[in-house]
Amino acid sequence: ASTRRVAVVTGSNKGIGFGIVRGLCKTFNGDVYLTARNEGLGRKAVEDLKKEGLNPLFHQLDISDSTSIQNLKAFLQKQYGGLDILVNNAGIFKDETDAPFAEKVEETLKLNFWDTLAVCEVLYPLLRPHARVVNLGSILSTLAFGRCSDSLKAKISNPNISMDQLKDLMRDFEAVAKAGTVEENGWPKWAYHVSKIGVRVMTYIQAKAFAHDSSKPDIIVNSCCPGYVNTDMTNHKGTKTIDEGAVTPLYLALLPANVESPKGEFVTGSNKGIG
Ligand code: NDP
Repeated sequence: ASTRRVAVVTGSNKGIGFGIVRGLCKTFNGDVYLTARNEGLGRKAVEDLKKEGLNPLFHQLDISDSTSIQNLKAFLQKQYGGLDILVNNAGIFKDETDAPFAEKVEETLKLNFWDTLAVCEVLYPLLRPHARVVNLGSILSTLAFGRCSDSLKAKISNPNISMDQLKDLMRDFEAVAKAGTVEENGWPKWAYHVSKIGVRVMTYIQAKAFAHDSSKPDIIVNSCCPGYVNTDMTNHKGTKTIDEGAVTPLYLALLPANVESPKGEFVTGSNKGIG
């Protein structure tokens, strides 16, 4: 395996992920993998960046397919012996569709929370010292948190929350969505927003675990909101370009060695004066 540094961005055939790959190709000293569940779309995106004089590489990755995640892990292990940057960007937004609410919750939490967590669980053992992980969250999680009952707020913001407790909270939300009793149980009626609460708290828990693991020094995990970005997800109503949306994720992916902060934080363009 080479010791060359390597970066992976999930769901990067289009949208903000594509912008993040473009930015990494310009600034990261190592190989950059544009990944996509659909190989044709991924390779087309790689060709588009090559026309700009950039040189991303391609690897297939469907975060809903455990074999696909394992294949990427085996590839990285063999070719690089590690991983230096992971951007968990793949995500879906279904709240504005006509599907039944319980179905939207199931599909949205599956991809945005459970499948993203699965990627972390499989790829984190590859992270080298000084690795940076960025989990794409959303400011809508703040809105959703504000609408939660006091007892849920206390559980979500418990500084000692464990990953098992977070998983239970997400499962409880899925269960009450199925039962049609989301509001009675203190949750807001939004699938996407709650899934991003999950991403944000997941990030906090993971960062704390790395801080206590001296065998993996200076591994930093943060989540962020990219802002409101002009992509398919926003039906192109977002006001930022994908390159502008990539600014905060790139800032976090490229945090220099041994910085004190941010660590385990939820970063928005405005709270860092960027983006
Ligand atoms: P897009 O819908 O434009 O792109 C989403 C990407 O995720 C696509 O490449 C899509 O692939 C990929 N994806 C979907 N399912 C899977 C899967 N199973 N495995 C791998 N990749 C998958 O979204 P955006 O670029 O707007 O959003 C990117 C991230 O930023 C998301 O996490 C989103 O929640 C977050 N975000 C976006 C905001 C915005 O204003 N746009 C605001 C706040 C957060 P395919 O083409 O195959 O569907």
